[in-house]
Amino acid sequence: MKKIVVLTGAGISAESGLKTFRDSDGLWEGYNIQDVATPEAWRRNPDLVQDFYNQRRKSVLEANPNAAHYALARLEEKYHVTIITQNIDDLHERGGSSNVVHLHGIITRSQSSRNSNLTYPINGWEIKMGEKCEMGSQLRAHVVWFGEAVPMIEKAARICTEADIFILVGSSLAVYPAAGLVDYVPNGAPKYIIDPKIPYLGDDSSFIKIEEKATMGVSRIVEKLLR
Ligand code: NAD
Repeated sequence: MKKIVVLTGAGISAESGLKTFRDSDGLWEGYNIQDVATPEAWRRNPDLVQDFYNQRRKSVLEANPNAAHYALARLEEKYHVTIITQNIDDLHERGGSSNVVHLHGIITRSQSSRNSNLTYPINGWEIKMGEKCEMGSQLRAHVVWFGEAVPMIEKAARICTEADIFILVGSSLAVYPAAGLVDYVPNGAPKYIIDPKIPYLGDDSSFIKIEEKATMGVSRIVEKLLR
């Protein structure tokens, strides 16, 4: 079976009602990233950070997968598919994909603020201040903040080196190390990019560019690949 590797960013979930942040001048839901998505922000104002991610979790639980998530799941009929996502939502899983690597964590789980390996399911949408891990530390969202290590990056890079076909959907390629994964795809493997505003791809001219929203563009490519 041929291997398809799909790298997704916030853009694939935009049509499910979850906002990207590059589309609104670097703000994410009206917040400056430095104030809500860094270890410094957590030290400065843990209540604000906790509340920010509680609100994001609520939105994720209220959202549904869209046609792009569902179409990617259909690729499994004919290919070995791995989705590497920068997203912290669970829409790929709910859309039916069975092999999803979350580079930046997943908001439906909590983690110890002392040891990122200790993660737990969350009851409902909220992590409350005072809820602690087994070591007695406050629980926070299981997401990778700016300035934190990305534990899954090596596994993701290895997966990219084995791609027969590569598909990039809805990422501004502005967040590293995720953006660097593109460089691990073997020369000669067809590479597609689907984004209504194709980001700067450096001197890589080998991408097949589909300048469309995810629901349209992904569905079209999947039809073609399943033919
Ligand atoms: P980004 O916000 O930097 O870029 C979004 C990209 O999606 C842009 O290139 C934009 O043109 C494109 N886009 C917008 N609407 C689209 C659509 N309908 N279809 C396809 N593409 C569309 O996102 P990023 O590159 O993923 O980096 C942002 C970081 O923010 C990630 O690390 C991620 O963890 C986090 N984030 C996650 C979510 C989520 O989980 N849903 C949402 C916002 C931000």
